[in-house]
Amino acid sequence: MSGQIDDLPPLREVISRHGLAAKKSLGQNFLLDLNLTSRIARQAGPLEGHDVVEVGPGPGGLTRAILANGARKLVAIERDPRCMEALAEIAAHYPGRLEVVEGDALEADYSDMVKAPVRIISNLPYNVATPLLTGWLAGAQWPPFYVSMTLMFQKEVAERICAASGSKAYGRLSILAQWRCEAHIAFDVSPKAFTPPPKVTSSIVVLEPRPEPLPCDVRKLEAVTRAAFGQRRKMLRAALKPLGGTELLDKAGIDGERRAENLEVAEFVALANALGEIRKG
Ligand code: SAM
Repeated sequence: MSGQIDDLPPLREVISRHGLAAKKSLGQNFLLDLNLTSRIARQAGPLEGHDVVEVGPGPGGLTRAILANGARKLVAIERDPRCMEALAEIAAHYPGRLEVVEGDALEADYSDMVKAPVRIISNLPYNVATPLLTGWLAGAQWPPFYVSMTLMFQKEVAERICAASGSKAYGRLSILAQWRCEAHIAFDVSPKAFTPPPKVTSSIVVLEPRPEPLPCDVRKLEAVTRAAFGQRRKMLRAALKPLGGTELLDKAGIDGERRAENLEVAEFVALANALGEIRKG
């Protein structure tokens, strides 16, 4: 099924005309239903008056939905040169609104190409999804260059991003994401929606930057969460020994008999700040 969101050709035809057989090595699972890609684009909030960054446009299903839903300008970063002609056809249909950067999104610098307010919307390649998200979350500049991120992940990763303390999925990614953003799962997407279908269910996650996250150095926060969750079954007294153990915990006012998965985000921030004080002193 292909929705009537524009009068460009159906995605199946685009894929066969340009020889875009999906490559596993590039994490290619394409969405061909433009009603579904429109639903994803709409989760981001209003697109009129916003620039959008999309990683991995592929044959352009989500790209077309973002443009049809009114984005002022879309910068799309795609690593696969085979997709360039198909994307050029979309650019011609929306003059002056789509710029395609051919390259690796982990390396590309597109910050000068977009103007505030910016939304990130992407059906991420699963093999680089977590490093991309971490990069967007851990930047030195806050508030960041974007006002929202609407991203597709494997459901298991989406649950880790949004997990509450005390749950099995709660870990380093939950702390980093929730320290700086409000995050929620908008809806799940069945493997059947993709060509080819992946093995697992996916989920759309929406993240909105907190204007004033609790003050703390992101590298120290990463250091304490790495140590604490590296040995999540152990008491914090033991897991945090390499970073100062009891001295660190006392400074942060946290009981060393607790375990990482039961600490709130604010308590990890207290540990990160205590680590800063110990290293200074
Ligand atoms: N947006 C399309 C859709 O929803 O149908 C394609 C999504 S597919 C899951 C991921 C896309 O990311 C592919 O087109 C792939 O070629 C591209 N890709 C993979 N690694 C990339 C990277 N490091 N930088 C930019 N694009 C990448």
